[in-house]
Amino acid sequence: MTDGIVDAFQAAGLPIFGPTKSAAQLEGSKAFTKALLQKYDIPTADSVTVTNLNEAKQVLNTHAYPVVVKLDGLALGKGVSIYEHPETALAGIENIYEQDSQAPLVIEEFMQGPEFSIFSFVGKEQVVHAPIAQDHKRLLDGDRGPNTGGMGAYSPVRWIGEDVVQTAITSLVEPVLAAMRAEGTPFEGILYTGVMLTEAGPKVIEYNVRFGDPEAQVVLPQLTSDLYTNIMELLAGKPTNMTWQDTDVYLGVTLAAPGYPVNPEKGLPLPALPNDVQIDYAGVKQQTNQLVSNGGRVLTAVIHRPTMVTAQTDLYAALDQTHTDLVYRHDIGHQAVVAELA
Ligand code: ATP
Repeated sequence: MTDGIVDAFQAAGLPIFGPTKSAAQLEGSKAFTKALLQKYDIPTADSVTVTNLNEAKQVLNTHAYPVVVKLDGLALGKGVSIYEHPETALAGIENIYEQDSQAPLVIEEFMQGPEFSIFSFVGKEQVVHAPIAQDHKRLLDGDRGPNTGGMGAYSPVRWIGEDVVQTAITSLVEPVLAAMRAEGTPFEGILYTGVMLTEAGPKVIEYNVRFGDPEAQVVLPQLTSDLYTNIMELLAGKPTNMTWQDTDVYLGVTLAAPGYPVNPEKGLPLPALPNDVQIDYAGVKQQTNQLVSNGGRVLTAVIHRPTMVTAQTDLYAALDQTHTDLVYRHDIGHQAVVAELA
């Protein structure tokens, strides 16, 4: 979308649900989004954008720590570094500017709090929000280790109140859609808002202009209406009725190749899982007559149960009995378990 596939379809008179190249900058450029959020006073981490080593050093020398440094542009969830000390931050940016002396970098305030994601289906006349999800970005149990594209997710997030979600929608989602209209680049398609629930209220971490992964794997199966009909109605500017299940929790655990995110091992066999576990494949390839790992994140295994405790127990029992060589976290949904047991 950041390359303009929507513009090309529209020019050819073909229907397509997604943002134009200009609107896709909301994901494609962090510097663009930060400037937009500042202009329209939408809550997010304070930040500065720099484009050379000297500027970056000046900012980092006087910044509060931890500090967050983000590469501008798309980086598959791996372009964000959090530094605790100036020495490591300076070493990190020197490394970046050795490779590209004009790299645009966003240097921002470190925020703290639980994270959640909102998918909004943005049509011409109507915006529909899906049940919220929570992703787990870090590689290791206990939210430790490097950031990844996402190691697992669950939805709905029952312990985050409807009032908080509504505040996030009215303070972070609706204003950015209004801002995009005001800028002459209205947004249509799927808007993913990554939210951090700070002490000062919900703030934007980032927007994506598509389904986020692995949240989509736990949100989309909850849809009880027909996605195609919903999207065609949104596109046509007609009222649509999107409906979602409300009895179960959907839990997804991502299996990655050993070595991910640096150097994932290829060619490993995939585990066999029971029928009530839905499998969404990612980095796999066909080798003779079986699928084998062929990338970092290999698959996401999804189960749904009335509670997170039963979902976790059943999914991890199914995964552990495979003794797979693929790696996965053992605590996806931990905040929901704590809330259920409280
Ligand atoms: P994605 O693949 O999700 O698009 P990305 O490279 O665009 O990732 P962000 O979503 O901006 O990166 O950040 C990734 C993760 O880094 C966030 O989910 C959050 O955990 C952490 N993070 C980002 N910004 C901040 C911040 N200002 N303070 C604290 N943590 C942050």
